[in-house]
Amino acid sequence: MSAIERRQFDTLIIGAGGGGLRASLQLAEADLNVAVVSKVFPTRSHTVAAQGGMNAALANVLPDNWHWHMFDTVKGSDYLGDQDAIEYMCRAAPKAVYELEHFGVPFSRLDNGKIYQRAFGGQSQDFGGDQAARTCAAADRTGHAILHSLYQQNIRAKTHFFDEYFAVDLLRDDDGHVLGAVVFNIQDGQIVVIEAKTTLIATGGAGQLFKTTTNALINTGDGMGMAMRAGIPLQDMEFFQFHPTGIAGRGMLITEGVRGEGGYLVNGDGERLMERYAPKAKDLASRDVVSRAIAIEIREGRGCGPNKDHVMLKLDHLGEEVIQKRLPGIRQTCITFLGIDPAEAPVPVYPTAHYTMGGIPTNRYGQVVVPVKDTPEEPVQGLYAAGECACVSVHGGNRLGGNSLLDILVFGRAAANHIIDYLKENKYHRVIDEDIVNKVVEKVKRFERSNDTSASKETVAGLRGELKQVMEDHCGVFRQKDILQEGVEKVEQLVKRMVNVKIEDSSHTFNTARVEAFELENLMACALATIHSAHAREESRGAHSREDFPERDDKSWMRHSLYSFENGLDYKPVRTKPLSVKSFPPKPRMY
Ligand SMILES: Cc1cc2nc3c(=O)[nH]c(=O)nc-3n(C[C@H](O)[C@H](O)[C@H](O)COP(=O)(O)OP(=O)(O)OC[C@H]3O[C@@H](n4cnc5c(N)ncnc54)[C@H](O)[C@@H]3O)c2cc1C
Repeated sequence: MSAIERRQFDTLIIGAGGGGLRASLQLAEADLNVAVVSKVFPTRSHTVAAQGGMNAALANVLPDNWHWHMFDTVKGSDYLGDQDAIEYMCRAAPKAVYELEHFGVPFSRLDNGKIYQRAFGGQSQDFGGDQAARTCAAADRTGHAILHSLYQQNIRAKTHFFDEYFAVDLLRDDDGHVLGAVVFNIQDGQIVVIEAKTTLIATGGAGQLFKTTTNALINTGDGMGMAMRAGIPLQDMEFFQFHPTGIAGRGMLITEGVRGEGGYLVNGDGERLMERYAPKAKDLASRDVVSRAIAIEIREGRGCGPNKDHVMLKLDHLGEEVIQKRLPGIRQTCITFLGIDPAEAPVPVYPTAHYTMGGIPTNRYGQVVVPVKDTPEEPVQGLYAAGECACVSVHGGNRLGGNSLLDILVFGRAAANHIIDYLKENKYHRVIDEDIVNKVVEKVKRFERSNDTSASKETVAGLRGELKQVMEDHCGVFRQKDILQEGVEKVEQLVKRMVNVKIEDSSHTFNTARVEAFELENLMACALATIHSAHAREESRGAHSREDFPERDDKSWMRHSLYSFENGLDYKPVRTKPLSVKSFPPKPRMY
């Protein structure tokens, strides 16, 4: 063990996306010793890909206030969101945007100099009235602008970065305290044990669970896998968002901002299809509604193209000037990947896996919480989670566009503030039992190189491909019992085959091959949680759409699912009480 490097920090943050970097900035500015570990260079984190913008009731374009934003978010969540966290987030939103502005984010501007705001799906004025315009944007490159500004601010504040280090597992003692993590340097494979008084997981989503996805290859649910292996259940994993407008057959995202600017969907008969499904909000109904509408149109033979397997997103009528000013990245994506200029012709689109609504259960302070005996939630000492890997839960059954950037910033900051207070009371490192460290370090060696060329060996790429296909076929936009049951069996078989994974000795990309094996193990954990929870939930709510149980069932199912290796499925109540206003009781969801 002596050769293994040991480092100590007040806080370890795993993940350098918007969630991790907002938290690290707050901590570094409070003069705490904070380390950020990221498997990619920080500014390559997936937040960089966010296009359309971030919600806040600034009322720069149309009347607005945080309470309307809260109503829309609760309704968008199909009443599964926790209303204390939703109130907290919507109230904090304007401040979060102004903070970003001061950090240097170059938001697009209105002629009067105020921050530009566009309309996004599921937004309304006055609790379900006319369309609102709540999404603050830096053209269609909002995430890029936010991530770069946060990184620069962290450099100024002297955050310590471990760039291109892979976090494998948490260190947790027998009392349940989390004491840091074991990571390795992807370049040379050297293991580092990072001891920390507090650890924040901010590892992003698990969009690589599905074959067709808007998510980058790095979105493999690592933090969720780590949490599960440390005995923490994952919450609401059956709720996976399919974005209505991925480029058909390829998956790249065409932001909802396109429809916010006035773009709309047409079917093979040239009809504006959303008029049939959401007469009022039309193309700006919430994402689950629009995705299902597209799937139904195609299923009923009204798709476009020779195979009638997609619909068209029309925006050429917006004019070249608007497209170039507000949607330049989208225009470039369409030209590069399709050879289509959207200023001249419509774009073929199809619903595509996009966002993990579920994740590591937390309260609104970012503390990871688990059920203990008769209590629905008790904090895990020393452990926090924020961003897409966490389930706080502000998105419930369906996330509204523009609410994720908001979520990562608001709860990244909230977690950091709680950590600052916690560290005032817990000044010293807890002593780590060496056996615990040794056990985790040994486990890091589980994907060592091997000369074994036996026929039973499995390749990471092969298993990953199979997993993504199974999830796409068995746990997609529409679900039903038999298909889910078959999916459960197939995923369990794939998990069993994982033990035969071998990394070839000759591979010159040895460490990246190891990273991919660890990522696959994490995806497998997420897949188990997702498909078991989806199979069990016998209702349709938000993005979870069961053909055999088409109605929402508040009596039996207004509760969060929890899935763990140890206990399988469990449930806990939704936090329906907001902080200061009356709660929004469940109602039929119409757009
Ligand atoms: C194409 C696209 C467009 C989007 N557009 C919008 C939008 O307009 N508005 C909006 O609100 N939301 C949008 N979203 C969603 C939003 O961008 C994400 O939910 C959000 O950015 C996630 O931020 P995060 O900080 O949680 O994680 P990420 O930005 O994904 O960062 C995760 C970090 O964890 C690190 N990491 C992961 N695993 C490990 C490991 N094992 N070891 C070390 N490091 C690790 C990564 O290196 C990375 O630094 C979009 C999503 C996509 C895919």
